[in-house]
Amino acid sequence: MEANPDATILAGATDVGLWVTKQDRVLPTVISISEVPELKAIEDLGDRIRIGAGVRYAEAEGALTVLHPEFGELLRRLGGRQVRNAGTVCGNIANGSPIGDMPPALIAAGATLHLRKGGETRSLPLEAYFLAYGKQDRRPGEFVEAVEVRKPDPASVFRIYKLSKRFEQDISAVCAGVHVTLKDGRVTEARLAFGGMAATPKRAAAAEGALAGEPWTEATVREAMAALASDFAPIDDMRASAAYRLQAARNLLLRAFLETAQVMTLEPVDG
Ligand SMILES: Cc1cc2nc3c(=O)[nH]c(=O)nc-3n(C[C@H](O)[C@H](O)[C@H](O)COP(=O)(O)OP(=O)(O)OC[C@H]3O[C@@H](n4cnc5c(N)ncnc54)[C@H](O)[C@@H]3O)c2cc1C
Repeated sequence: MEANPDATILAGATDVGLWVTKQDRVLPTVISISEVPELKAIEDLGDRIRIGAGVRYAEAEGALTVLHPEFGELLRRLGGRQVRNAGTVCGNIANGSPIGDMPPALIAAGATLHLRKGGETRSLPLEAYFLAYGKQDRRPGEFVEAVEVRKPDPASVFRIYKLSKRFEQDISAVCAGVHVTLKDGRVTEARLAFGGMAATPKRAAAAEGALAGEPWTEATVREAMAALASDFAPIDDMRASAAYRLQAARNLLLRAFLETAQVMTLEPVDG
């Protein structure tokens, strides 16, 4: 990559392959990473796991499902078996699509992206990698080396939702990662990330702000739902209208609350 900074990196080819077969593009230099042993590891680092750039969805599924069963549910619906046997988690990130499924889930979980150029490495919060539509924070000669995913605190609400027209093997209209950490019924940290709502996968800063420090109640959640309108101005396209996307994103937040509120705020019963 240092010698050929303009080369196309080829991981699982589930995107790059289509550039050739559907768009007749000619790729002058291709560097395949699919058989680089150092990039194929999944490591348990205690409070987080590290997934190398060569790790395919099917290979990551077990470790991610142990991290949280919600990842397993998402992966089961990402592409079909063939795509999951070829495509990589890091390729889904590197591709930078606003409707890729892994980024919202991983951003909500608090993932860190590791980039490398020769011997130099740098890391950034995953959300910072996505600069604008089709533009990522990747410098010439750099490649994605790995993604590290924090293990969600068991005392937190962690939900991933994928909405697509067809349940199986379809691209998301909206994908949501909801991660809310609670202490004594109050929100200590909120990480809300959405795909399909903006030109990049993006955190909902205003909605997160509406939750932070507040009691985890339906009234608070409804404030955050309203705030989503200042976080996102989604587009209309064949997958969904802008109005549907915003309404759906709001309702997913409410769903996360309704699915977890009883468990998370259960008061001890006297006697
Ligand atoms: C039938 C089908 C169904 C699909 N369904 C879904 C779906 O449900 N959800 C979804 O999110 N996606 C879906 N996809 C899209 C696709 O599977 C993903 O985006 C995939 O994760 C890309 O990973 P890959 O390893 O195949 O990447 P590749 O196609 O090899 O590469 C994708 C891009 O990332 C770059 N890249 C790859 N690895 C690196 C690296 N280590 N460093 C820097 N750049 C890198 C490549 O140069 C290229 O620009 C589907 C695709 C197909 C064909």
